Amino acid sequence: NKTSSSNFIKNIVAEDLKAGKVKEVITRFPPEPNGYLHIGHAKSICLNFELADEFNGKTNLRFDDTNPVKEDTEYVEAIQEDVRWLGFEWDELRFASDYFEEMYNRAVLLIKKGKAFVCDLTAEQMRETRGTLTEPGKNSPYRDRSVEENLDLFARMRAGEFKDGERILRAKIDMSSPNINLRDPALYRIAHAHHHRTGNDWCIYPMYDYAHPIGDAIEGVTHSICTLEFEDHRPLYDWTIIECEMESEPHQYEFARLNVTNTIMSKRYLKSLVDQGIVESWDDPRMPTISGLRRKGFTPEAIRAFCREIGVARAYSVVDERMLEFFIREDLKLKAPRTMAVIDPLKVVITNYPEGQVEFLDAENNAENEEMGSRQIPFSREIYIEQEDFMENPPSKYYRLFPGNEVRLKHAYFITCQEIIKDASGKVVELRCTYDPETKSGSGFTGRKVKGTIHWVEASQAAPAEFRLLEPLLTDEAADSDKEFLECINPNSLTIMQGFVEANMKEAQGQDKFQFFRHGYFNVDPKHTNKEKIVFNRIVSLKSSFDA
Ligand code: ATP
Ligand code: MG
Ligand code: MG
Repeated sequence: NKTSSSNFIKNIVAEDLKAGKVKEVITRFPPEPNGYLHIGHAKSICLNFELADEFNGKTNLRFDDTNPVKEDTEYVEAIQEDVRWLGFEWDELRFASDYFEEMYNRAVLLIKKGKAFVCDLTAEQMRETRGTLTEPGKNSPYRDRSVEENLDLFARMRAGEFKDGERILRAKIDMSSPNINLRDPALYRIAHAHHHRTGNDWCIYPMYDYAHPIGDAIEGVTHSICTLEFEDHRPLYDWTIIECEMESEPHQYEFARLNVTNTIMSKRYLKSLVDQGIVESWDDPRMPTISGLRRKGFTPEAIRAFCREIGVARAYSVVDERMLEFFIREDLKLKAPRTMAVIDPLKVVITNYPEGQVEFLDAENNAENEEMGSRQIPFSREIYIEQEDFMENPPSKYYRLFPGNEVRLKHAYFITCQEIIKDASGKVVELRCTYDPETKSGSGFTGRKVKGTIHWVEASQAAPAEFRLLEPLLTDEAADSDKEFLECINPNSLTIMQGFVEANMKEAQGQDKFQFFRHGYFNVDPKHTNKEKIVFNRIVSLKSSFDA
């Protein structure tokens, strides 16, 4: 529905510019480098970059690397590749860790102002004294430490004198605030861990709620856009900006995160699929990661169009996965060459076609886009057709090949099935057919009509190919049951078929995309394709019941 493609944040930005509240729009995309980006992140990327772009502003890519245990440079690199591939270039590349010294200094300022204190309560005790939605919390017994003692202890935390969890730095706000996030929240924790950028320089790390506003302010971010679960954190965001006396004043705006049917997006879940070997890697074509979608064959254009269509709102919603498929079909419809692939081959010998002869037939590359021209495809006495395009005892209304029936070979001739050859077990292994030279495609033959058209590839020159047919990683049960997702893994998420494609596709490169007659859109897998065979991932089948 077209009405959903609105973007309420765009209106806010337009008004802020008009009212002179900001001179230039600066946004940022702030991933934590603890996994690969997924389709949900694509929504945030498109939102941040396109918003700034529309008003001639800037967007930074800022890694939110404040949690050293889970982060890694592998993720830092993969995230940059994915953002670029989506078609965006950041103004500046930043890391929250660039600001560790400044964040530390601002924390010292808070202590001096009596706005922060070192607390010795354990995590457990902190939880017990935090209170509930209906009950206020209790002040920490360490809340009234002197500024001198706090400065000394905080310096010693930094110097590594204490173990993980022994002490934390807390903001001194209000233990009876109705907003639990304001009940003396943690600002710094001790973590003796190696950081992928700062190494062992630090053993204290800022909390997200403290680091994020400071990073935004340092970079002059004007509109800091995040997902709705941070709405209740906004007062702490604003408190930090004001009490740390930041020179610029960014504002936080929240939107509803993207949810897609049959798709779980949390990085924790995706990482466990990789770690447990349920998928090949983060870019496995079944993964909802950006790299997985790329390897499956999605294009940046399709993903951007999808993100634009779903719009930006504050209301929770779940988007139908078929909508994503709609946009990739739309994008490839006029771009992808339409060729023939046989994914489950059955050999056909055309007995009245001269032995040793090969002729070349003209085949248009895209019936809907003449500009794509045509190609020459070989035809000879031996071809492959699909197993499913032949039945020995067909039901009524079966118009493909069966004994005595005539069908059209796409781009070639009419053939008639004369004889079936079976192996010892009774399986059909070959057909003997005859062709009618009068019926050549493009010759203007009108003598008689046939009801079925089937696709084929010439046997002697065909390129061996593997076809990977993909289904969702999770069964339908996953959505509504209390089952752990590992119990809902779809055993049929990957089906591998061995067949053939047209001879001229031997030159196909990784990521080339094709529409195979009747089978749908396929992408050349860049990792598994080798000299022996081309490996294709099915992007999407041809049909869809979804209309955008
Ligand atoms: P996950 O829970 O999947 O690990 P995250 O929010 O912890 O995601 P971050 O790396 O912190 O991952 O996310 C970077 C940005 O992307 C954040 O601003 C976050 O709000 C946004 N984002 C993450 N998931 C979604 C989603 N499903 N829809 C829209 N934006 C998202
Ligand atoms: Mg996060
Ligand atoms: Mg997360």
